[in-house]
Amino acid sequence: MIIDCRDCLRLSDNPLLQGIQHPILVWICEDVRWTRMSPRRQVFTLQAVAELRAQARALGGDLVIRQGDRVAELSALAQQLNLGIRVNAASGWDEREQDQALGAERIDANSLYVETDLPFDQVPEPFTKFRNIVQKKVPVAEPLAPPAALLPLPQGLEPGELPAMPEVPADPRAVLQFVGGETAGQAHLANYLSDPRRPTTYKQTRNGLLGADYSTKFSPWLAQGTLSARQIWHAIGRFEREVHKNDSTYWIKFELLWREFFHWWVQPWGAGLYAAPERCQSRDAWWQAWATGATGVPFIDANQQELIHSGFMSNRGRQNVASFLAKDLGLDYRLGADFFEYHLLDYDHASNWGNWAYVAGVGADPRDDRWFNVMLQATRYDKRGGYVRHWLPELETVEDRQVHWPWVAGGQPPIVAPGGWDKVING
Ligand SMILES: Cc1cc2nc3c(=O)[nH]c(=O)nc-3n(C[C@H](O)[C@H](O)[C@H](O)COP(=O)(O)OP(=O)(O)OC[C@H]3O[C@@H](n4cnc5c(N)ncnc54)[C@H](O)[C@@H]3O)c2cc1C
Repeated sequence: MIIDCRDCLRLSDNPLLQGIQHPILVWICEDVRWTRMSPRRQVFTLQAVAELRAQARALGGDLVIRQGDRVAELSALAQQLNLGIRVNAASGWDEREQDQALGAERIDANSLYVETDLPFDQVPEPFTKFRNIVQKKVPVAEPLAPPAALLPLPQGLEPGELPAMPEVPADPRAVLQFVGGETAGQAHLANYLSDPRRPTTYKQTRNGLLGADYSTKFSPWLAQGTLSARQIWHAIGRFEREVHKNDSTYWIKFELLWREFFHWWVQPWGAGLYAAPERCQSRDAWWQAWATGATGVPFIDANQQELIHSGFMSNRGRQNVASFLAKDLGLDYRLGADFFEYHLLDYDHASNWGNWAYVAGVGADPRDDRWFNVMLQATRYDKRGGYVRHWLPELETVEDRQVHWPWVAGGQPPIVAPGGWDKVING
C-alpha cells in the first residue's frame, strides 16, 4: 500500500500505517500548494520531511519524495507498483476532490475521532452542542505505537531528492523558534507539561501575546501532523491523573474540541468557502495596509508584523485582525484567510477557514454582531503597550497612555479609525 504522508509526517500514532505489512511512504511536494506557503513554512515542512526520511531509513525503509502534481505523481507510483493508495482524510475541498480522483482510501489520522464513531450525520451546531455530544458519547482512542521496522523500497523505485531548503533568517522576537518534525513536536509537548505551572494556568494565561508560555503552541506540529491530537489529549489526561487536574487542564482539551468541531464542520462546504474573491479596487489601499501591517492601528499592525516575520500570531491577535478586516474595513474575509494560509506555520485548512468565517459572522453560529472592539481589546490585553512596542519599535518612546492611539498626539491617522475608538480613549 502507498501511504501518502501529506500533513501526517510522523511514525508514532499513525493510523495510516495500521495493518499494512509493507507500507511505501510517499511525500509529494505539490507545485500548487508549495507556492501557497511562505518560505518559512516551507522550511518548517521540509524539516519534518527530512526527519521522517531519516526515521524511516533507521527502521530499514525509506520515504519516497516526488515533486509536481499530487494526483499525477501518486497515480504514476500506484501504476508502477500496482498498489492502492491510503491518505490522511484532509478536510479541504481540493484534497477531497484529489482523493476521489485517486480512488484513495481516506483514514481519519489527525482528528480526535473517526467519522464512523460520530453519532450524527451532520455536525450539530453551535459548538457547545457538538462538544456535549462527543464528550459524552465518543471516547478518544489511545495513540498507536510506531512501527518496529520497515521493509526496503521495492527494486527500481527511486527514493527521490528532498527539495532545496529556502534560507529564512530566524526572528529573535518570535514567541518560539519552531522546528518542524516529530522529535521537536514530542519534545515540545513533554517540555510544556514538565512545568505544572503551564497547563494548570492555561485558562488564565491563554490570551497572552508575548513569550512561549501563554498558550500551548502545539498548533504548528498539529498542522503538519508531527504531533497528533490524540497524543496531546492522552498526555493531558495522564497529567491530570498523575500531577494535577483543574479548569485549565480541561480547557486545553476544550480547545482541541474546537479544532475538532471545525474539522468536521467545514467538510460539507464546497469550493465557495475558499475562493478568494477579486479585490475591490476602491478598497485596494486598505487591503494593502492591512496585509503589510501598516493600518496605523498599532494593535493590528503589531499582530500582522508578528505573523509576517515569525509565522505565528496568538488567538487573541487573530480574532482582532480578522474582525478589523471583515468588520471595520468591510473587506471579504476570504482575502484575510488566504493571507493567513500563506503565512501561518500552523495553517490548518479547517481551523483557518472555519475561524475566519466564524469571526466574519457567516460561518458556524452566524451572527451580525460578532465584532471585536479593537481598541478595547488592545487596552485589555496589552495594557502597558509591551506587545505593540515589541513589534513596532517606532512606538518605543510613545507614552503608555497613548501607545494604542498615537495619532491623537499628532501622529499619522489610521486608514480607518476602529469602531468605538473615541469611546474607549475618552472612557
Ligand atoms: C482568524 C483565525 C484563523 C485561525 N487559523 C488557524 C489555523 O490556520 N490553524 C490553527 O491551528 N488554528 C487557527 N486558529 C485557531 C487558534 O488561533 C490557534 O489554534 C491557536 O492560536 C494556536 O496556538 P496554540 O497552539 O498555542 O493554541 P492553544 O490556545 O494552546 O490551544 C491548544 C490547541 O487547541 C486548538 N485550538 C485553539 N483555539 C482554537 C480555535 N479557535 N479553533 C480551532 N482550534 C483551536 C489548536 O489546535 C491549539 O493548538 C485561527 C483562529 C482565528 C481567529
